[in-house]
Amino acid sequence: MTSNVDKLVAEASKLIGDKHVTTNLAFRRSYLARSVMGIRAGIAEAIIKPGNAEEVQGIVKLCNELKVPISPYSGGLSGGYAQPLRDEGIILDLVRLNNIIEVDIDNRYVVVEPGVTSGQVWAYFRKEYPEWAPPVPDGAPPRATLIGDAVERGFSLVTSKYGPQGRMINGLEVILPRGDKIHTGSWAMKGVKPFYPWGPGPDFTGLFLGAQGTMGVITKAAIRIIPHPPHIDLVAWDYDNPEDMTDHTLAVVKKEVGVMVQGGNWWLVPSRKDEREVPTTLEAWRKEKYYIPAWMMNFELWAHTEKELESQHDIIQEEADKLIKQGRSMKPWELHPAAKAGRLKKPNLIAVPYSMHRAGFVFITWYLPFADTAEFSNICVETMEKHDLPPVVWVSSIEQGRQCIGMPIVCFDSRTEAGYEQAEAWDRETTEIFHKKGWLNYRPNAFIHWPAMRPMMPEYVGMLKELKDLWDPNRIMHPGRLDVD
Ligand SMILES: Cc1cc2nc3c(=O)[nH]c(=O)nc-3n(C[C@H](O)[C@H](O)[C@H](O)COP(=O)(O)OP(=O)(O)OC[C@H]3O[C@@H](n4cnc5c(N)ncnc54)[C@H](O)[C@@H]3O)c2cc1C
Repeated sequence: MTSNVDKLVAEASKLIGDKHVTTNLAFRRSYLARSVMGIRAGIAEAIIKPGNAEEVQGIVKLCNELKVPISPYSGGLSGGYAQPLRDEGIILDLVRLNNIIEVDIDNRYVVVEPGVTSGQVWAYFRKEYPEWAPPVPDGAPPRATLIGDAVERGFSLVTSKYGPQGRMINGLEVILPRGDKIHTGSWAMKGVKPFYPWGPGPDFTGLFLGAQGTMGVITKAAIRIIPHPPHIDLVAWDYDNPEDMTDHTLAVVKKEVGVMVQGGNWWLVPSRKDEREVPTTLEAWRKEKYYIPAWMMNFELWAHTEKELESQHDIIQEEADKLIKQGRSMKPWELHPAAKAGRLKKPNLIAVPYSMHRAGFVFITWYLPFADTAEFSNICVETMEKHDLPPVVWVSSIEQGRQCIGMPIVCFDSRTEAGYEQAEAWDRETTEIFHKKGWLNYRPNAFIHWPAMRPMMPEYVGMLKELKDLWDPNRIMHPGRLDVD
């Protein structure tokens, strides 16, 4: 441990109490995660758990003085992304800041602290405000936090309609790396509510979104809530190929139907079980297990009235009929009631079993125009098979199909280094292909994605460096994450 960390630990213990500061190796190791979104991570030298924004500010000031790196950590469910990249610095665990501070029904937002989990806020709304829904991440376990997902611009239960979580933020309270506290949006004006996201302009909130914890520590966020109407249904469609899936889905989402529109290939099913137990061809799966489509799309529909729900069903059918007339093939797929209930449960544990297939999994996520979904899916299947990875492809509409989020789920053997290398070899090859197609990484990693992207955007990288010089001159915030050291 460096002597500066020793000093920090001593000072932090005085500031917030020694039971909230630890250098115990077992605790430090327990934070390490090499999976989910990022497979490279290091072990912090200390874990510090402040209890409120003032304590966060005190710790950030100390870290800045002592030049000790900080990795902010809300729920830690982004895996490697909430860890330091090297074995240094502290994890600033914000679990104790867990208050739901305000719900404003007229302006439609909830103010939360970073430790508020999606399970907590969802349960609170079901009890206190059943007609409203906070935009919790769709597939992340209930322990994921609303702020962690929002700053990641994650994928919520209504992202297909309203856009990524970043769009749902009305304002932030942030401790900057030098220790100042700022508010963004209309919150910037003392005594004004966070009802207007753009504030006096320019828009500072954007500086913290997708920044992977490198620009400051968020201690509060005002996040939009949406109506949670009484008529909810899930319909699934069955396609032989990704082209039919893409064209039908795009036609539907261009009519602005569906709060959650997501699907992919049949591999989404077997990859949730131990690979030794599952047939590896679709024909064998159908024969030995049960029917699943080669490609599928789920449309989750929310409506205030039965009539409105019916009209959404009609649009999905009408758009299919138009394509069928042109010789395309697709049909509704009757979901098993248990599968339907599982998908409609929020938040859920639906994605956890991907760790069953080969012990580890990583979501390597891309943004692309929705019309390119079939091409993206075909390349994923072909390259994953070549790399001896199960070709699991998940795709979803973002903002009514203005974009597709394409997420191959890379199931790898996390018990061996060779497993990690295999996942990265596939990532490296497809990164080159996908960048040439004009598609971009959702949460670029510092090893493969950033080095490949930097030459494609020199001015952008230059701007980021200048901003860091001004904002974080000692480079204490999550060094290395955005590759701007
Ligand atoms: C099984 C599984 C399924 C998942 N499904 C989904 C899904 O459906 N949709 C989705 O969007 N995501 C999903 N995820 C990814 C992840 O869970 C979410 O992005 C998650 O909500 C992140 O929240 P968190 O609290 O865990 O953030 P963390 O992992 O703690 O942090 C995320 C990033 O933000 C930074 N950060 C965290 N808190 C702060 C703060 N207060 N200030 C500044 N920076 C901060 C961290 O350093 C890190 O870089 C899934 C994960 C798992 C394990």
